[in-house]
Amino acid sequence: MDLQGIIEDIHATLSPRRGEGKVANYIPQLAHVDPEKFGMAVVTVDGDVHLVGDAEEPFSIQSISKVFTLTLALGKHGESIWKRVGREPSGSAFNSIVQLEQEGGIPRNPFINAGAIAITDLVLAGHTPKEAIGEIVRFLRYLADEDDIIIDQSVARSEQATGFRNFALANFMRSFGKLDHAAELVLGVYFHQCALAMSCRQLAKAGLFLANSGTNPLTGHRVVSHLRARRINALMLTCGHYDGSGDFAYRVGLPGKSGVGGGILAVAPGKASVAVWSPGLNDNGNSLIGSLALEMLAARTGWSVFGA
Ligand code: GLN
Repeated sequence: MDLQGIIEDIHATLSPRRGEGKVANYIPQLAHVDPEKFGMAVVTVDGDVHLVGDAEEPFSIQSISKVFTLTLALGKHGESIWKRVGREPSGSAFNSIVQLEQEGGIPRNPFINAGAIAITDLVLAGHTPKEAIGEIVRFLRYLADEDDIIIDQSVARSEQATGFRNFALANFMRSFGKLDHAAELVLGVYFHQCALAMSCRQLAKAGLFLANSGTNPLTGHRVVSHLRARRINALMLTCGHYDGSGDFAYRVGLPGKSGVGGGILAVAPGKASVAVWSPGLNDNGNSLIGSLALEMLAARTGWSVFGA
């Protein structure tokens, strides 16, 4: 069966289960999303685009943005970013604060909230928050080669008004001297990057450079070096699903990054970039149906990085 047939089959098989899991509601604006949404996009390194279900509808990418701000921060500051953030899985919830105290304000990795806030602090260097937000949006448009990627301001405002835990994480890091800007400034940028609205198709296109050794095969843009793409993929595999990262690697076997909006970006190196969206989350805050869809896709294609 060809790729289009495979994803249509996966969509049909899982469709009766749409609505399973819990839609994130700690960001009030996200609670309004229809739990029945389910879309999938696969973009191959040869440039073929395969879509199924709600693949063209923009959703809140939330923590998936952390892959792109990490890429930006590495571009600006190089390997020196690792003075501010580690490269180990945390084994803790995405918004946990406990390890920060034990480890001197250095978050375990760039994909948990504390680590992503530290990365955003580095992206903000030399900019106003407005400029940094503009840079992030432009970067996503450049990566996806799509001009209509925007930030959902209502989601950004909603999180700004209720993100007390993220303020706690940022202030805690600042108390250790590990954040260069005031919490209000860094989080102003962080909440906006999380509120980027993108469709599965746009997201899969934006992540394609990671599947193709750092170069987007659709545009020819060299985004990062081969080595850097490999390293970002390694971090996604080990840390991209918080305290569910081991389980995702076991079941799917692909570098992936989830967000509480119900999206997952997965990378099949040398093959394709894949985005899924289904808002219901499992206990670790990762899309329940999305993870199952990727597990089925990896099984059907033999794309696991651990072998077919
Ligand atoms: N904006 C969300 C937060 O900081 C992102 C979390 C996520 O997607 N896991 O809580």
